[in-house]
Amino acid sequence: MFICLGGIHGNEPAGVNAISRFFAFFQYELAARPDLPFRGTVLGLRGNLQALEKGIRFLERDLNRMMLLEVVAQLDRPDLKTEYRELSELLVHIRRELEQARPEQLVLLDFHTTSADGGIFSIPADNPESLALARHFHVPIIQGMADGLEGTSLSFFTPEYQGVPAMAVAFEAGQNEDPLSESRSIAAIIKGLEAAGCLPKDALSNPDEQLLVDYSEGLPVVSELLYVHHIQPGDGFRMRPGYRNFQPVREGEHLADDRRGGIFAQADGLILMPLYQDQGSNGFFLVGNGE
Ligand SMILES: [Zn+2]
Repeated sequence: MFICLGGIHGNEPAGVNAISRFFAFFQYELAARPDLPFRGTVLGLRGNLQALEKGIRFLERDLNRMMLLEVVAQLDRPDLKTEYRELSELLVHIRRELEQARPEQLVLLDFHTTSADGGIFSIPADNPESLALARHFHVPIIQGMADGLEGTSLSFFTPEYQGVPAMAVAFEAGQNEDPLSESRSIAAIIKGLEAAGCLPKDALSNPDEQLLVDYSEGLPVVSELLYVHHIQPGDGFRMRPGYRNFQPVREGEHLADDRRGGIFAQADGLILMPLYQDQGSNGFFLVGNGE
């Protein structure tokens, strides 16, 4: 079963729009080409409905940091609110579909966008199958994120979910409001379906695939996470202006400030996801040692 998840962060609607547009296109193709050799089940899911409605990352708690067994254990009650309700509904849907489809394999693509410009990359879950899947999307791959972040969909659904072997990749499609972020997400869905064996290569036209190829020119194929700057509530974190994804920084460079003073790069590397929005628990990431 192939799951596309969009809008797990409510201020990132590009993934949701891409999934809707993909399904419209795919239904048209299936109707027009009865011989299209498709196999499997494709499921499209909207993540944080209440936050999407408001256009904010989350209401109470980051849905993509609370996918933890101890949180899920608290969901079995009727009066759930905010992200607890969202997580419960999401898992109910996925389990129901798994019971019906009884797939041999689960593939999850989790779609995101970033507040800073130029961030197009993939984050595989920790198992080798997820890394192999990520290699199909052309874009830079960031490894080691699962260790740096707790409670994400990547860690939760892999290496198996409900007894089904699983691979998962988060696809960062670009800037939140960039219309091309949608196009790049659609290109990734089609590449993912090919990689998962649901569709033969080139069975569907993929006009935006070249966007991914062009963007990734000159960037490392695989990078390792070196450092995450975690933010606590009340830190008053402010990224210094002008940082872009994959911008090289030097050890000691003054990157940001908070109430304790300056925050400096811990190592030479490339900066990822510098935070230029109010909500978020990570100020920036440093990656390096590219393949
Ligand atoms: Zn996100």
